[in-house]
Parts: sequence; C-alpha cells; structure tokens
Amino acid sequence: MNVQTRVKAGCVRQLAGVLASRRILRCATVNVAAMAAHRRIVQRDGHDRPRQVQEDVRSYFVALLRGLNRAADRGILSAHVAKRMADVFIGNVLLRSTEDDDVVNSLGFAPPKFLLVSPTGRCNLRCKGCYAESDPGNHASLDFDTFDRILTEKRELWGSHFTVISGGEPFLWRDGERDLLDMVAKHDSDFFMVYTNGTQIDDDTARRMAELGNISPAISVEGFEEETDARRGRGTHRKVLTAFENLRKHGVPFGVSATPTKDNWEVIASDEFVDYYFDREGAVYCWLFQYMPIGREQSLDLMVEPENRVEMLRRMQGFVREREVFVADFWNSGPTSSGCICAGRRGGYFYIDWNGDIMPCGFVPYSTDNIHQIYREGGDLNTAFDSPLFKRIREWQDDYGFTQPAEGVSNWLCPCVIRDHFSSLKDAVVRSSARPINKEAAEAMTDPDYCRGMVEYGKSIKRMMDPIWEREYVDGQGSGGSEQHAGARAVLERFAPRLQRKGNNDVRSH
Ligand code: SF4
Repeated sequence: MNVQTRVKAGCVRQLAGVLASRRILRCATVNVAAMAAHRRIVQRDGHDRPRQVQEDVRSYFVALLRGLNRAADRGILSAHVAKRMADVFIGNVLLRSTEDDDVVNSLGFAPPKFLLVSPTGRCNLRCKGCYAESDPGNHASLDFDTFDRILTEKRELWGSHFTVISGGEPFLWRDGERDLLDMVAKHDSDFFMVYTNGTQIDDDTARRMAELGNISPAISVEGFEEETDARRGRGTHRKVLTAFENLRKHGVPFGVSATPTKDNWEVIASDEFVDYYFDREGAVYCWLFQYMPIGREQSLDLMVEPENRVEMLRRMQGFVREREVFVADFWNSGPTSSGCICAGRRGGYFYIDWNGDIMPCGFVPYSTDNIHQIYREGGDLNTAFDSPLFKRIREWQDDYGFTQPAEGVSNWLCPCVIRDHFSSLKDAVVRSSARPINKEAAEAMTDPDYCRGMVEYGKSIKRMMDPIWEREYVDGQGSGGSEQHAGARAVLERFAPRLQRKGNNDVRSH
C-alpha cells in the first residue's frame, strides 16, 4: 500500500467514525471539511479551470456534506449505512480516481468514472414524454451474467466503483430469482445511485437497501402531488411518500429527481419545493433533468424556454450557495462537471440500455455498438470506449473546453452536445454512421422542423448565457456566492486547527 493510499484509508476510517458520531463533532468536522475543500478545490485548482467553476464545485461538495449531516441529525441515516457510505462512496468513489497514474498508464487513456446502465425497459408506469419510452409492455432486459460482467469489467479495467442505474423501472428487473439488490450485494465495493419511480420501495426493499449500505435511490417527482400524478398517474405521489417513509425508517439516504418543463419549472425551481422535499421529507440531493425533446411524443414545445432556463440557473445557484442544499441541473450545472460528461469522457460516463445498445448518454439515442455483440466477438468495455461516435463527441468536448486552459474554455452554461449544439451532434452521428435506436431518434435527425427548432434553441440560449459566462466565469466577478461565504470562511480558518484537534481526539475515543 503506497503512502497516498494509506492516507486515504486513514481518512475513510476517520470519516466513518465521524458520520456515526455525536452531533457536535460531526458538525465541527463538516465545517473543517468545507474549509479544506476551499483550499483543495479552489485555491489549488489542479485542472486550471476558471475560478468560479472551482467555486461551484466546492459549493456542491459542501452542499452534499451538509445534506448528509442533516440526515444524520434527524436520525434518518443509520450508523451502518453511514459507515458503508464512508467506505464505499467516499473511499472508493470520491477519494479514488479513475485518473490515477497506474490506471492511465496501464490503459494508455483516462477512462470514464462511471457507467449508466438501464437493465430493463419495463416500467409499471407510462409517463408522458418518457425519454426512455418505457412502459409495462417493454420486457427487454439484460440477463444477470451480462449485467454482472459489465459491472465487474468496469471495476477491474478502469478502477470505476460507481454505477448509475436507470430504466425502465430498475426495481422491476429480475433474472430468475435474482433482482437488482442481489446485483448490488454482489458488487459490494461499488456505490449505486438508482433512478426510480419509487413505487416498488416497500418496507422490505428499504430494509434490504439499509443492510447493503451501498445504494441510494433518486425518486422521481414532477412537483407536488398534483403535478406528479398528472404526468405519472393518479396515486403515484402517495406511493412516493410511502417510499420516503420506508427509507427514513431504515436510515437509507435518498434524493429526488424531477423533469422541469415549460409548464412546471416554476413549481420545481421554488423554495417551497426545496422546503418540502429537503426539510420536510428528508431528501439529501435533487437532480433536475429539464425536459429533453427525445423519446415518447417528443415535442419542442415542452422545453423550458431560454429565459426561464436562465431564471432556473439563478434559483439553483441560490439553493446551492446560500441554502447549501444539493440541487443539480444536468444542463445549468455544466460548469461544475467541466461541461458535457458523455461518450466516456475522462471523469464522465456512457450508457448501456436493456438491449445492450451502447450510447453516449441517456439523452443521446444513437449507437455504433452493442455489448452483446462486443462480447460475442471477444471485446470488452474498452472496445465500447473506442466507438467512432464517442471519439467524435470527445473531440468536440475537448475543443469546446475540456482540455483547454482556463482562458480557452467556451461557455459551460451551454454544455450539451444535443440540446445546445444540435448541429455538432448531428454531424458526429452522420459521420460515424451511428444508428438511431428508435423511430423518434431517427425522426430527430431527419425532420427539418425539429432540426431547425433545436438549432434555434441553441442560438437563443447562447445569446442569453454568454454575457453571464463572460461576466461571472471569464472576468471572474462571480455572482456574489464567494463573497457571501468569505465571512464564514474567515471564522472557520480561525477555529479550524482547534476543531481538527478536537475531532481527532473524539474519533479516537469512539
Ligand atoms: S449530451 Fe447533454 S445531457 Fe448528455 S451528458 Fe452531455 S450535456 Fe449532459
């Protein structure tokens, strides 16, 4: 074990103790970690990013820590889950990187950090505008051995210990007697985040999740009861509340995910939404996926309009920077992830669906490879990484800013290769001869009205976001978040050494 690994292992042991410890020690340690994050992420800035980008990364990290701390305060994070999260999520995911020298040297490239896998297309709901077009009649699923091999390979080849599961409804996936939680148990050094409609999380499922400790569900809502039931079916919101109750009872941390559209974005991006799901229900995080016009009944008219996307950005910044709650928007949070993360980018991911089709992203339904075929022909996940479509998108990501120095980064508030740069995506799809995975994806490439509409959307959002990017990220004026935290930082810096010493003593006494 090298020195770095020993130091990390020591950190994890301490964190495990702290997460399960008394309130005063936990709060003090979270404060110290928040301050250390400023030093490590903002001041050191190992990636040469615009300063506000690093400030955003720090804000999200702190918001996540505060969320876990709040859950522990309320007694809805069990001691066993806290220990497992420290070991697996913090130790194997956050502190371990697929960019480590030994991984990169052995492969000759930096691999993705995680995969998105949808093991089944089946769903018990039939939501309007579902990007995955899932429904009760779709029975296509990965078999246990293929799913298992994907997870094993990504860990062994890339050192990746994080998997995002979507669908379909993941908790409906079965192969014989074995279900999703059997797979999670088999890969107990990996952490799983599962996007689910929540309707299958009964008391026994929540209990099994708590015993495993390496899984967190992100449950879909569309606003409050009225909006959720309108899209997902009557009675769905009540089932979601029951799932929350079961998860709280067994101490499993959970999040929510929501799809803002032109019609419901104001409800979702509101203080009332945050009060309800974070303060009342106990969510630790929230992912927003603004409606993407791809999939069932795709419609450009449902997209959040550009001026409202800007308003959503402002509200979300307030939630994260001021209220310190983790609300991430797959598009407006682009600076935090250094832009688009799809197509197997370093630190990013790619997507494998229930048919084994391999795509750059859950929202980019074009493919050059299928995992079953790759395995039949003797290949592995590295073969998938070499997809000509992925290579073209990665080249675009690099040119757009990912491998550029801070001053060469283009506007990461418009990061998305399909939503914000449709012509670039179309060019990559055509030149790599990627096939659309369904008829809606085919139409998106050939329907002139659709193509024109997407290109126009990209131009509008660029016009609105460019001045914000220039002022707050390029010129470095920020939007007030840094200044608001400066006072708190000064206090923390003054007391940190004392808190640190106390923390060490208390951890040892446990
Ligand atoms: S293609 Fe768009 S949705 Fe997919 S990872 Fe990139 S930015 Fe996100």
